[in-house]
Amino acid sequence: MIVMGIESSCDETGVGIVRLEAGADGAARVELLADEVASSVDEHVRFGGVVPEIASRAHLQAMVPTMRRALAAAGVDRPDAVAATVGPGLAGALLVGAAAAKAYAAAWGVPFYGINHLGGHVAVDALEHGPLPRSVALLVSGGHTQLLLVDGLGAPIVELGSTVDDAAGEAYDKVARLLGLGYPGGPKIDALAQEGDPSAIAFPRGMTGPRDARHAFSFSGLKTAVARHVEKCERDGVPVPAADVAASFQEAVADVLTMKAVRACVDEGVGTLLIGGGVAANSRVRALAEERCAAAGIALRVPRPRLCTDNGAMIASLGAHLIAAGATPSPLGISTDPGLPVQTSQVR
Ligand code: ATP
Ligand code: MG
Ligand code: FE
Repeated sequence: MIVMGIESSCDETGVGIVRLEAGADGAARVELLADEVASSVDEHVRFGGVVPEIASRAHLQAMVPTMRRALAAAGVDRPDAVAATVGPGLAGALLVGAAAAKAYAAAWGVPFYGINHLGGHVAVDALEHGPLPRSVALLVSGGHTQLLLVDGLGAPIVELGSTVDDAAGEAYDKVARLLGLGYPGGPKIDALAQEGDPSAIAFPRGMTGPRDARHAFSFSGLKTAVARHVEKCERDGVPVPAADVAASFQEAVADVLTMKAVRACVDEGVGTLLIGGGVAANSRVRALAEERCAAAGIALRVPRPRLCTDNGAMIASLGAHLIAAGATPSPLGISTDPGLPVQTSQVR
């Protein structure tokens, strides 16, 4: 069966198409056929962050052309099911994708599944690496930083811990602004860090003390420490060593994320770590996770960078896995939910 996934929770209009087949062992096999993304990121640059109204309007303009491109790329006339992100995300942006998905599902006479964007960041990995065993998932994105226990795709997700303040991606974007690198900050800091010394500045590792919650994160202290460092340089009249700041900041983030993720695997007795969300595209997070998982005997799964940031394939993948697990369609009357919790894979 062919499943279409529609993503519009932030500034990417994504349409992905997958083929779902039941494997000989009963496990779902999901194959990626098309993954088209139109981003309005350029329209937000001069504001230094995503402007919800602009994102919504851009989704409206991009939705139908992006869907047509995906259908053509997959070589299908219509899917057998349509899944769409119904939360979490920007209210107006979510409405556009969900309304499009409902309208197409009604017109094509196929079932509609209203599903969770965060679950999509986890499920996308199966497109590259196949069925997922019981795993710890580190979800690191622009709005979320969480450690999750995932017992196969389509099953309920358990939250082990999350950030108490900023998300990792948010910290990247704020530090990029402090360094005058512009928006979006993650890829810019990643690139600049390659030229810097990661041990130049000892930035704090939040929530790593013996009394801190084992599976929680905090990045606001780190962001403040970077701001203080930049201010001190300016006060002293010395140039800000931007590459060293970027590399040292990136090292602090990658150190805490990977240390806590490996520890969660050990605590839960789980042999697989999956990393998803936009920050999973980060070169240092990927390298350090590889190193530490190898040392701990843990299998690491990280999707290719393009699948880490927002796209429609991740929604098609989660939709297909839910269908394979026996999910019934969502009524067309369901609402979008900007604050949908990660545990709710599908809204019914
Ligand atoms: P959420 O998924 O929590 O709703 P979102 O959809 O806006 O938030 P994603 O698209 O998953 O977030 O990720 C975007 C974030 O990833 C941004 O904060 C961006 O700076 C960050 N990011 C992207 N590439 C990199 C990179 N190479 N290094 C670090 N951060 C990155
Ligand atoms: Mg984006
Ligand atoms: Fe996302």
